[in-house]
Amino acid sequence: MTLLKPTRRQLLETACLTPLLALPAMASAKILAPSTPQSAAFHRFRVGKAKITVVSDGNLNLPTTGLGVNVSRKDVQGFLKAHALSTTDNYSHTNLTLIELDDMKLLIDVGSGDRFQSSAGRLLDNLDAAGIDPDDITHVFITHAHPDHIWGIRDDFDEPLFPEAEYIIGSTEYDWWMQDDLANTVEKSMQQFVVGAVNSLTAEGLEWTVANDGHEIASGIRVIDTPGHTLGHMSLIIESDGQSLMVLGDSMTHAYMSFEQPAWVNGFDMDPDKTVSTRLRLLDMAATDGMAVLGYHFPFPGVGHVMKNAGEYRFLPAMWRWQDAG
Ligand SMILES: [Zn+2]
Repeated sequence: MTLLKPTRRQLLETACLTPLLALPAMASAKILAPSTPQSAAFHRFRVGKAKITVVSDGNLNLPTTGLGVNVSRKDVQGFLKAHALSTTDNYSHTNLTLIELDDMKLLIDVGSGDRFQSSAGRLLDNLDAAGIDPDDITHVFITHAHPDHIWGIRDDFDEPLFPEAEYIIGSTEYDWWMQDDLANTVEKSMQQFVVGAVNSLTAEGLEWTVANDGHEIASGIRVIDTPGHTLGHMSLIIESDGQSLMVLGDSMTHAYMSFEQPAWVNGFDMDPDKTVSTRLRLLDMAATDGMAVLGYHFPFPGVGHVMKNAGEYRFLPAMWRWQDAG
């Protein structure tokens, strides 16, 4: 198999040339938008016996032209205006999830490190703030191999950030990115995504477990197929003592739009039809079972419930608490 091993410098140069990654800063001040990072670095709560910590990797600045690409721009702008959101800047959070249960410390996704946008890559600082030593992480589950979820897997010396961990990813996801010569068969705008994914998946010192639908990482913690955003995308469900949480990854990417207009897809959703059918299945599951959901790109900490009313869905964010619930 041919592996693509560009130098770090080449990768960064490519990133600089790509318009998507070279966006201007947000054009105007918004309510609750400070000029420097504030203190919200992690958020802790419980699901049954499991301790959950949402750890932020920072945020991404994306254009709203990537939202609702299968409907009219007018409809998207109308939706954003009606929700008091910017019609130009899509301020997207990156919420990583840490699950602690018995001796297991399972981290879901690893952020982008300093290889993507400069507003992200804060994982290590925020883990430190949460009192988590990277050497203590026992498992890492990657929902999919996009830059903001996997490029932070190795440090500046190409060493794994979490040297003691077992690394888990969906088998379909792994096989898709690792296809021979994939970078030369995708659109130009996707090439750096492929190179970055392959570099991350083949980083030295990583041992991958490839998972299929229903794979149990521990008792009560399983991963499920949620294809669409990428072809092998997976999400994770944890059930403990009658409580449950679904860590969505990017099966839903917008806290308002993905719920209220689940048929609208974004520019990164590789298979639009599968994205929508997966999303509807998850919304129905979460609303019916009262399962909490946690979205990687929802406003920090990105956890809440799904309400269904007259056939329409809404995201109900969990209320912020200063203290760990127990
Ligand atoms: Zn993402």
